Amino acid sequence: MTEQLELASGAITATGRVREHNEDAFVAAAPVFVVADGMGGHEAGERASSEAIGALRELAGHTVTPQDVLYRVNEARVRVGRLHSTAGRDAGTTLSGVVVTHQGVAPYWVVINIGDSRTYRLADGRFEQISVDHSEVQELLDSGDISGADAANHPMRHVVTKALGAGTWSDPDYWLLPMGPGDRMLVCSDGLTGELDDSTIATMLRAEPNPRVAAQRLVDAAVAAGGRDNVTVIVVDGGSGVAATATAPGSRAVDEPDNDTRPGAPAQEDS
Ligand code: MG
Repeated sequence: MTEQLELASGAITATGRVREHNEDAFVAAAPVFVVADGMGGHEAGERASSEAIGALRELAGHTVTPQDVLYRVNEARVRVGRLHSTAGRDAGTTLSGVVVTHQGVAPYWVVINIGDSRTYRLADGRFEQISVDHSEVQELLDSGDISGADAANHPMRHVVTKALGAGTWSDPDYWLLPMGPGDRMLVCSDGLTGELDDSTIATMLRAEPNPRVAAQRLVDAAVAAGGRDNVTVIVVDGGSGVAATATAPGSRAVDEPDNDTRPGAPAQEDS
């Protein structure tokens, strides 16, 4: 399968109103759409995020398998790990986003995440966060110690529990999602989600068909709301061309692997 899907996308980054440097980095070149938010002080952060994105960017323009994605993410981890001696032991980065791959003829989103940047999907009108944050606040939510309402302003909300580099060797999470017709993916750094709640983000994504304009509006809104952190947004529209026929509702290829690999995902029924 070498046919390239038509994917429309837009990506915008902004330093914001408070920070002097932009430590976020991204790649938005089919089939790879990934954001990295660097940490460890500004120079270390900038170098870590750009090393990680450099490793992922090598997938751009290629037909990619899920194994290729795993290989490049590991390469990103190695490159960030090497910064120890020059940029300091705390150099690290989050990584979140999607790479479009194929299983047979059917296109899939490979979702990657480590840290607290996020990947969301808008599908059939429903907006949901696919990635699960690696953060102190997410752990408190999971244990029931705090509610969703407490999380937005919690003092620990910026504390990341896993990253690439930063003196750790943690594994990212992966999900393999069949691409549905009309799927819209949102990839962002926490500079977006720290300023805008999910329902505001969803409303803005639904209102603007052009992905680049949607990305710009989201970044502008986050900066207007305070811009306390660097903010990066990628919007990717899949599901046109090949995708629309390969995963039309009700159709399912015989050899297609069992689709949704997210923990707790609803079982699919064969009809
Ligand atoms: Mg950030």
